[in-house]
Amino acid sequence: MNLHTPYPYWLLKNGFLFEYPALRHPLKVDFIVMGGGITGALSAWYLAQAGVSVAVVDRRHIGMGSTCASTALLQYEIDVPMYQLAKYVGEKNAARSYHLCIEAIDKLEQICEKLDLPTGFERKPSIYCASRKADLEELDLEFAIRQKHDIRVERWDKADVARAFPHFQSAGALYSPHDGAQVDAYSLTHALLQDAMKHGAQVFDKTEIVDIQHEKEQVVLHTNHGHSIRAKQLVIASGYESQAYLEQKVTRLHSTYALVSEPFDGEIWYRDALIWETARPYLYLRTTSDRRVLIGGRDEPFYSPGRRDKLLNQKTRLLAQDFDKKFPTLAPLLVDFNWAGTFAETADGLPFIGTIKERPRTIFALGFGGNGIVFSQIAGEIIRDSALGKKNPDAHIFSFERMVD
Ligand SMILES: Cc1cc2nc3c(=O)[nH]c(=O)nc-3n(C[C@H](O)[C@H](O)[C@H](O)COP(=O)(O)OP(=O)(O)OC[C@H]3O[C@@H](n4cnc5c(N)ncnc54)[C@H](O)[C@@H]3O)c2cc1C
Repeated sequence: MNLHTPYPYWLLKNGFLFEYPALRHPLKVDFIVMGGGITGALSAWYLAQAGVSVAVVDRRHIGMGSTCASTALLQYEIDVPMYQLAKYVGEKNAARSYHLCIEAIDKLEQICEKLDLPTGFERKPSIYCASRKADLEELDLEFAIRQKHDIRVERWDKADVARAFPHFQSAGALYSPHDGAQVDAYSLTHALLQDAMKHGAQVFDKTEIVDIQHEKEQVVLHTNHGHSIRAKQLVIASGYESQAYLEQKVTRLHSTYALVSEPFDGEIWYRDALIWETARPYLYLRTTSDRRVLIGGRDEPFYSPGRRDKLLNQKTRLLAQDFDKKFPTLAPLLVDFNWAGTFAETADGLPFIGTIKERPRTIFALGFGGNGIVFSQIAGEIIRDSALGKKNPDAHIFSFERMVD
């Protein structure tokens, strides 16, 4: 699968951070993690911290799947608003999902503080703007349910938005002062794996799993180099390519676009908040630690790398125009980097984390959607608990059994 155009910003900024060998011998471990993106890295990190013998394999270089293309906003707000999510999974599970995302961002912060290497983690407020006046009703429903469930959020009217963002045409917004953040997902992936290796984890890239046998006592994986890996448990953290291991279709694929501007001086906009909106597909903006503006959106509802990439220049122009309209005093935006990526979402906006009966001794960690990184953190803990034989009280929320149309 072709996941993105060749030069996402994070890859150019960071380059090859670390070398990992290809697997050139047979291997036996307790846990094998298939996929060395942010999801595999967090799973392996949690397992290694818990003293479990674990190895990671990736067919690409580490972090070079979707992770290096990620715009990496960390939001507790799921793509599906809580009042809508409640209709899919019940209000209790919807509210718990939002709270788990808040907790996941806190935990990611604690992990990043502990890691020796840079991760680009920064706390940011988040603002969710009404794209049209007609969306205010939805905004009020969302505000009411979030308040009911003790989420720290403010309802801003048109004047509040205009005070913070003088040129925005938004009739209202939900402002979350405390519970957002941003990161460099590519650096974080390497930082996690380097740390996991200090706790005994093994990491191999340029090693593709071409066959999987699920036996009663073990899982046997075969690599493209002709070696076998025997493990008690397999974690499938293969990102958007994981659908190949499932009979049930759980994702919809889209094409998405992002750009990074030339650097600015100082605070670029109000508290350098994460900005997004009620329209679907939505436009979203963040800043970077080197003072650039990062804009994403203008999604197309198809997976076709050729068509996706052909649209890159046109989409870049449109994203830059979107910015110029919102921030006329900073216009025209000068684009330094742009890229296109494939993006997967689920019907209810929640990830799939758990087992299916067709693949014994296997846990899927599929952090799909706009909160993929936050979901990966949740997956890491669920997988660690499963390895330790501990019941995770929230695992059922993300299981395959909840399938919705
Ligand atoms: C443009 C864009 C913007 C995004 N913005 C955000 C955002 O703002 N916030 C957010 O939280 N999320 C965002 N996401 C989503 C987030 O980036 C993803 O959820 C996350 O990167 C997925 O990580 P992963 O480790 O699951 O997948 P990947 O990074 O794709 O890693 C999976 C790995 O598995 C490997 N693999 C697959 N098959 C095999 C095999 N057979 N053998 C060996 N290895 C295999 C692949 O090579 C790959 O490296 C965005 C995604 C994109 C593309």
